[in-house]
Amino acid sequence: MEKKNIDWSNLTFAYRQTDYRYVSNYKDGKWDDGELTTDATVVLNECAGVLQYSQSCFEGLKAYTTEDGRIVCFRPDLNAERMYNSALRLEMPPFPKDRFVEAVKAVVKADAAWVPPYGSGATLYIRPYMFGSNAVIGVKPADEYQFRILTTPVGPYFKGGAKPVAVKISDFDRAAPHGTGHIKAGLNYAMSLHAIVTAHKEGFNENIYLDPATRTKIEETGGANIIFVDADGNLVVPKSASILPSITRRSLVYIAQNILGLKVDEREVLLSEVEEGKFRECGLCGTAAVISPVGQINDHGKVFEFASGMEEMGPVLKKLYDTLTGIQMGRLEAPEGWICEINV
Ligand SMILES: *Cc1c(COP(=O)(O)O)cnc(C)c1O
Repeated sequence: MEKKNIDWSNLTFAYRQTDYRYVSNYKDGKWDDGELTTDATVVLNECAGVLQYSQSCFEGLKAYTTEDGRIVCFRPDLNAERMYNSALRLEMPPFPKDRFVEAVKAVVKADAAWVPPYGSGATLYIRPYMFGSNAVIGVKPADEYQFRILTTPVGPYFKGGAKPVAVKISDFDRAAPHGTGHIKAGLNYAMSLHAIVTAHKEGFNENIYLDPATRTKIEETGGANIIFVDADGNLVVPKSASILPSITRRSLVYIAQNILGLKVDEREVLLSEVEEGKFRECGLCGTAAVISPVGQINDHGKVFEFASGMEEMGPVLKKLYDTLTGIQMGRLEAPEGWICEINV
């Protein structure tokens, strides 16, 4: 297989159309067999459920070329399961988990020429998504749905290494108690756009959302979970029913406990603890950047800078980052079931 002629190391995090995508349709109470297609367009009725009432959910994962030249995905079974749960919460027919993993493998195999080479810093981003496709005008779930998986090669989320970012405490809320914060629904992102555009205008990279009920506890950012390292070098992970269960975060917790021998405390984290200086390091974690270090948090003009500072990632997060990316790129042995090989 000949790779595409692309300047891999200068790719940004942007959409670029590849050759194949996977499509399956749900109609008359069942999913069809699904297929790969070269058609990148979606044609919908003007009244489609997704267009009127935002009935949609998605996933995000990556394919990597390992040091020894294999193409692999990272824990796609967890994306399958999370999307299954997102669908149930949105009254959509869940796509079978085993078929989800098979479809990811099929589309990556078909787009293997687009998987960036080892060492380029780039990866193939995989975006499964699903939406209500038939006309719905009364407020109710659609009867027909489309499940698709597109791929797009992306550069490293942070050019020139992971520089710490400055984030602000947002006055907007991301997810209500008993709402949809724990599922990967497009609607959660739609309502975060105004907050992120506002934060960017003010010079911040991201928003930290607090729990809407008391506005005292740290939840997460618009698209990444938050982790802290305390003065004893332990990992402290905010816990709340409205935080999206990040696969990166769950993998880092496992690595901390079982590979690096760190203590992990998953609990409610108060904003006041941050301001009292309890934590030495802070990071945002998700598939796109793995870990993005936070150098400072701005709470309405009160600036808190972490001991790790604005120049580089702190030592504990760096160790976690190196271990997880080492596993993903095949340099380190992976825990059972984490690496899904694509047989090209
Ligand atoms: C997708 C997402 C994350 C990151 O999850 P990963 O599985 O690690 O990519 C974190 N927070 C929100 C709100 C998300 O939508």
